[in-house]
Amino acid sequence: MALRHYQASTTVETQLAYECEACGYEGMADVVGEGYVETDAPTAQENDAAARALDAAERRAWNDALSTVDLAPCPRCGATSPDRWRRWRRAQLPEALWWGAVGALVGAVGAFLLRQRFDALPPLVAALVGPLVALAVVATRTRRKRIRAASVRFDPLARPQDDDAGL
Ligand SMILES: [Zn+2]
Repeated sequence: MALRHYQASTTVETQLAYECEACGYEGMADVVGEGYVETDAPTAQENDAAARALDAAERRAWNDALSTVDLAPCPRCGATSPDRWRRWRRAQLPEALWWGAVGALVGAVGAFLLRQRFDALPPLVAALVGPLVALAVVATRTRRKRIRAASVRFDPLARPQDDDAGL
């Protein structure tokens, strides 16, 4: 079965409602969401696969915009939500663990090839490298997300549509 590699990336620019858990500030935020998808699909389903990849990239871009606004520091009090950050980091775990497993495997194979011996070292390298790679993935993504969340622009004049109750 012939496979073709698909990549789709897209960005969305949108305005989303923001609410601060600390001080109750509500406002509209201008945010850019990024979505990227890589997948392999049989060439027989070429058109479908390309459309599906683009759909998935768009879904990711919207989710990214939503989470970036959620994680942004409040324009009034500067607070960020520890709960939202915790949830977001937890959502990064499956992919981080996957990369950790890849790192562990590469480390173990490398340790074996270097010495041509299967003793305690390859499993030890795997046990050390796996968690380090997973941690590094989460840390890198967190750093990147923090920068993007800090660059969210707030529009003090725009109000959320249902903002008639006051606080
Ligand atoms: Zn606030």
